[in-house]
Order: sequence, then C-alpha cells, then structure tokens
Amino acid sequence: MQIRRNIGSQILSVFFPEKCYICGVKAEMLCEDCKKKFVIPVTRCIKCGRALPEADADYICQHCFTEKPVYDGGIAFFKYTDAVKSWIHNIKYGKMSYQIRILDIYKDQISKAIDEFNPDLLVPIPLTMEHAYLRGFNQSLIVAQRIAKWIKLPVCHALRKTKFTESQTAVDAGRRKRNVKGSFSASKKIRDKRILLIDDVFTTGSTIGEAAKTLKQYTDTVYFFTVAGT
Ligand SMILES: [Zn+2]
Ligand SMILES: [Zn+2]
Repeated sequence: MQIRRNIGSQILSVFFPEKCYICGVKAEMLCEDCKKKFVIPVTRCIKCGRALPEADADYICQHCFTEKPVYDGGIAFFKYTDAVKSWIHNIKYGKMSYQIRILDIYKDQISKAIDEFNPDLLVPIPLTMEHAYLRGFNQSLIVAQRIAKWIKLPVCHALRKTKFTESQTAVDAGRRKRNVKGSFSASKKIRDKRILLIDDVFTTGSTIGEAAKTLKQYTDTVYFFTVAGT
C-alpha cells in the first residue's frame, strides 16, 4: 500500500510539482512571498468592482462614470499585479492550465462575492474559432468550470464570437471598443435568467460591456466576474 501511495504522489508531483507556480521555490502552489502579491482590493468601484483608493470607497470609478456600462455590476477579483499577470499568462498561453488551482485558495471569498449577484448561469466569454484552434482551450471557460463546481451552477455557452478581433492586450481603449462592437451573438436559452459573465482580465471593460449588451437582448440581469482587473 505504501509503495502504491508513493507512486501515486510521484505521479502527482509530475503533474503538480511542489513548487511555487510564480517564483519556483519549494511551496505548495504559492509561496508566502508570492501570496502577498495576490492582492484582493478592500475598496472597489460599486459598479465594476475594480480597486479604488480607500478615500474613494463606495463610489463609482471614472470609467463607469463616463462610460455608463450596461452590466448591472461585477467584480474583478485580484489586482493585476505582475505576479497575477504572469499567472494568468501561464494559464492562457503557457499550456500550464493546471495553475488554475491557485483559485482554489480563494474559493470561499470568490463564492461569497458571486453569491451577492445571485446568478442562475455562468457564461464564459468565448474565443473566436481561430483563437480556439490556435490555443486549444479557452481560459474563461476553465475559470467558469472551476467556479461552477464550487457554487453548483451550470456553465452555459450562450455567447458566440461572430467576428475575429485582434488581441485586446496591445490596443488602446477606443480601438478596443470599436474592435469588439457587434462581435458576439447570444442564444435565446438565457431568456430571463440572471447571468454571470466570466472572463480572465477586466481591462477597459469593452469586452464585458459588449457581451452584456448582447445578452441583454434576452435578459435584464447581467453581472460579471473576472479573475483580475487593471
Ligand atoms: Zn513564490
Ligand atoms: Zn467602475
């Protein structure tokens, strides 16, 4: 039995090496130093849930003030620190999707935050067919599936990407907004459901905004959760 157990843990350590996913020192997933870089904001914009300086608690951010987004609210969970950025990058491009396990450390806090929105369904932001083919998987779907397991809600593929959009990381806010305009279509099966959109990073909010607008053809209530926000 002991031998079998040892083999089991050896196999596990090949798939999930016992080192910090961010800096590589010996640790289980995250070392104490890197954990400090996974910052959860204390004060947030009451509309988009991004970090605000403490003095601005319970206000809406400049972005929400000028853009008046159509979604009903949301939360960008972590601050987009370099450590969080490199982690998300690993999940997205590095074929290290197992690193999504870091989310489990924050399971209770994330579940509690999502509970406030009281969603019926989780809807991941889809990739275009081209991106899905090149990358092989969709990081938003991986996040949605992880969370769905905890809170026992279905993941619904209610959005389709109908237009190829260039990578959003390198373009400015105005261009992002033009790029994503009309880039989704929605399925009627979400009619009158409370939706929680899921994505990896909230940057200008243009992708989430356009997705929410598309879903609102069929339902009144769309919230979002992203792993991080800039
Ligand atoms: Zn570390
Ligand atoms: Zn805001």
